[in-house]
Amino acid sequence: MPNKQEYIQKAEQEFYKTYNRYPVIFDHGDGVSLYDTEGEEYLDFGAGIAVMGLGYNDKQYNEAVKAQVDKLLHTSNLFYNVPSIEAGEKLLTASGMDKVFFTNSGTEAIEGALKIARRYAYNKAAEEKRGEGCVHEIIAMRHSFHGRSLGALSVTGNDHYQEPFKPLIPGIKFADFNDLDSVKALIHENTCAVIMETVQGEGGIYPAEEEFLKGVRALCDEHDMLLILDEIQCGMGRTGSMFAWQQYGVKPDVMTVAKALGNGVPVGAFLASGKAASAMVPGDHGTTYGGNPLVTAAASAVLSIFEERGIVDHVNSVGGYLWEKLEELAAQFDCITGHRGRGLMQGLEFQMPVGPIVQKALLEEKLVLISAGSNIIRFVPPLIIEREHVDEMVRRLTAVLE
Ligand SMILES: *Cc1c(COP(=O)(O)O)cnc(C)c1O
Repeated sequence: MPNKQEYIQKAEQEFYKTYNRYPVIFDHGDGVSLYDTEGEEYLDFGAGIAVMGLGYNDKQYNEAVKAQVDKLLHTSNLFYNVPSIEAGEKLLTASGMDKVFFTNSGTEAIEGALKIARRYAYNKAAEEKRGEGCVHEIIAMRHSFHGRSLGALSVTGNDHYQEPFKPLIPGIKFADFNDLDSVKALIHENTCAVIMETVQGEGGIYPAEEEFLKGVRALCDEHDMLLILDEIQCGMGRTGSMFAWQQYGVKPDVMTVAKALGNGVPVGAFLASGKAASAMVPGDHGTTYGGNPLVTAAASAVLSIFEERGIVDHVNSVGGYLWEKLEELAAQFDCITGHRGRGLMQGLEFQMPVGPIVQKALLEEKLVLISAGSNIIRFVPPLIIEREHVDEMVRRLTAVLE
């Protein structure tokens, strides 16, 4: 067997270089702990980028996935399968949306959402306005993140990610998040949708302000535009409600979910309600893998476990505790200049780039943290963490900062 350094060298030879990885090889996990190939235990406050909501090695989840492996992995969407029907019912119940389409990733869920917006506008447009001559514009937010495929990248408000891949899809305009006037200023007769994360993740953990989200909802109603809320990171209980928008008294026409939906198997979804729920028709969209029995059995187990164990209530209680502890930390260290977020999606903003802090926490304190942007540490632990884990995380992070 190659040793750790040899594995890392092999990886660097094999993989297309789009990531700078930390020199750690994880081998297995249990609860909120990860173990590397040398048997070292790490406390995980990153959850594989907000994916492992139920943590690692959950017996009930594992049994559900294993049982499906032995039964049937895939059939294609030419046929029905029971796990997808059950997962769909649970997701629609949890969200109050009307229709669901399962995808393989977050970025694909965004692609579907954008297609609904375009299709909705196309359906509405007079015959002579349809087609290439008529660009149906979409308003997106600066500092947003919606994924890496070309459509999702087109609505991602990050020049650095976009620049090398232009031209992107036409008709995308960027407004400032939490600035209603900046949205208003971009609306005209060709605008068909507004897309945003309810809580910006990648961009630095910025929750939408209630007035802003309600204002955008009202503008969408007034101008017959679709409101698309990206809940890929902030959804699935993370902010203290099943979906973050449920705390705002608004409802989207289209929403996207992924990350924690499968607790580690690749599954996402876009959901639509009301007038958006029938915009696309047979032939408009498809996927070979999407919603296959394996991943939807996993999603179905996740949704049941959320219900049975009251995961959302737990997030509220331990999220409040995390808030208190991070407030104390912010008061203790002058280099911390901001603290934002909700539930178990919080961020600390620093005066300086946080890369070295994150690296030192990982390698020396065995604490997994992730950054958001260059100056923000993002706290998105498994949703099952307890107060004692918060205390331990703070102890280790304090040691690094000192
Ligand atoms: C991660 C993320 C995506 C993209 O999801 P992938 O599964 O990586 O394609 C889209 N939107 C938000 C808000 C995300 O956090």
